[in-house]
Amino acid sequence: MTFEELRERMVDDQLKARGLTEGRLLAAFRSVPRHLFVPPELAREAYTDHPLPIGADQTISQPYIVALMTHCLRLQGHERILEIGTGSGYQTAILAELGLEVYSVERLPELLLPAKTRLLSLGYSNITLTSGDGSLGWPERAPFDAVLVSAAAPEIPRSLLAQVGTGGRMVLPVGPPNAQMLIEVERRPEAIHRREVASCVFVPLIGEQGWRSAG
Ligand code: SAM
Repeated sequence: MTFEELRERMVDDQLKARGLTEGRLLAAFRSVPRHLFVPPELAREAYTDHPLPIGADQTISQPYIVALMTHCLRLQGHERILEIGTGSGYQTAILAELGLEVYSVERLPELLLPAKTRLLSLGYSNITLTSGDGSLGWPERAPFDAVLVSAAAPEIPRSLLAQVGTGGRMVLPVGPPNAQMLIEVERRPEAIHRREVASCVFVPLIGEQGWRSAG
């Protein structure tokens, strides 16, 4: 099968079959070449129903989890989005397909640099990347309409919550290593609403408002 056929099968079997049917979301997953975001020797596995290693003890998340988190943000196309944990840049590309501007923070320069090269070579011009402690968000660029965190914090980082604008949403895994809950947060004018979406397992968010160390 070609990579395009594998991608189409991923959309049908992993996303549509699990109830994610929104047209714009599925179109984004059909267009981003996930096999270019994994190490070359894993390219044939890129469209399987699993996370995969991307080096530096980190992973590219399972396609369904990327889609579920993206779905939680209800993107219409006009949003300024903050992503924490660029990793391979795959989720960044999906967000760039669906929103207006994406700002993404990665702690590890050895992952950020190849992600930057990859995203530029694919022609994305609405992505700004930086390295640093994303548990503190990106205050100079705030507020954001949507915030997506792809590493797990012990609790919702206060700095990130403060950078969600009114009417905005955030999605993130919260909880101890190996057993977290994906939480969707919506900042309405009158109050902040939280909803538990699904249980999940992510690598830790390491930083001032995350876990203090990788070990
Ligand atoms: N979404 C990514 C993708 O599509 O490849 C996968 C992200 S991986 C599950 C989590 C990433 O979060 C890792 O690259 C890790 O280095 C990063 N990370 C952990 N703590 C961080 C922090 N405080 N700030 C920014 N990135 C962080």
